[in-house]
Amino acid sequence: MFYNVHIHTFKDEDVPRRFLPLGLVRILATKPGFRIVSKLLNNLNPFSDKDTFDRYVKFVKTGKKATQETIFLDCAQYYPKETRFVVLPMDMAYMGAGEVPRPYTKQLDELAAMARKHSRVIPFIHVDPRRDDYFELFQKYVDQHDFKGVKIYPPLGYFPYDDRLMPVYEVCEKKGLPVLAHCSPYNTVHYKGSKEEIQRLLLKSKSDKPLELYDRSKKEMCAQFTHPENWRLVLNRFPGLKVCLAHFGSEYYWDKFMTNPNAQNNWFYIIKDMIKEYDNLYTDISFTLHNQEFFSTLKVLLSDVTIKDRVLFGSDYYMVQTRTTERRFAIDLRAYLGEKYFDAIAKTNPERFLHNTSL
Ligand SMILES: [Zn+2]
Repeated sequence: MFYNVHIHTFKDEDVPRRFLPLGLVRILATKPGFRIVSKLLNNLNPFSDKDTFDRYVKFVKTGKKATQETIFLDCAQYYPKETRFVVLPMDMAYMGAGEVPRPYTKQLDELAAMARKHSRVIPFIHVDPRRDDYFELFQKYVDQHDFKGVKIYPPLGYFPYDDRLMPVYEVCEKKGLPVLAHCSPYNTVHYKGSKEEIQRLLLKSKSDKPLELYDRSKKEMCAQFTHPENWRLVLNRFPGLKVCLAHFGSEYYWDKFMTNPNAQNNWFYIIKDMIKEYDNLYTDISFTLHNQEFFSTLKVLLSDVTIKDRVLFGSDYYMVQTRTTERRFAIDLRAYLGEKYFDAIAKTNPERFLHNTSL
């Protein structure tokens, strides 16, 4: 049995207006808007080529499908029948990007129903500590709906070591529930409010590194929330807590590594080193490995026994549709790595990561 530990099935109604750049989410949501904008965009060509635009259209269309189940089944078709999928919901109400059309609990209830119907679905709950009843929600979906882990998304404007998250980690450590955290810099999904607000949120930092508060874009400022080193405070306090830092440092830092392997402060290196330091720290290859140029580097990395035991297979469906097809992950990567390595990252490691210790 294989696992894909990182997919999304949330719908357009779970996404606030300014989730994607250029207001794409709302504009593409209506038929006339869709037609006018595709014409406009093709003329203005803000993307490098027609393919990129087509992929964005596909991405927006996926979110518009009728149910999370339709989105899930679309992804699952590329994998062997018995494959199991960790589905990561998103609470985007506090990212300063406008109102989210449907309440977060509706998204969670739909996911819970889907998990009851399809045993291949492994539901996680995204915890944003700014939601008033985040802890009660976490307890409810774990206890009553059998949710299997927690998703953390710091670029939305909170630090992984936020005091309000400590009770959540405490329960996770006790019950053996894993935590999966977004961990890549400069992506388009981040806090969209004012720079002053981002500064205010960043000042909650407990890092001894100087903060970059000025002369930076919002994207760059928000990367500081999700720096892998921030997790040290959590990992030191909860040594039994299983944490996966998603995206293995990101496409950005893998690219950097290709051109300048010795550069400092490369998140890819930092995560690699931290894995050797912390026994319960994992990473996943979702999104990043859409780039086929990275396949050989990954394969060489997996010859290191410690790394081989801590890398998890995930694709980041359907976010990755903006770059490539699911087929690249489901089939091309498996064929390239061979069964021994693919078994490690898609079977043995996910089983250990997801295994619930106290039932
Ligand atoms: Zn993701």
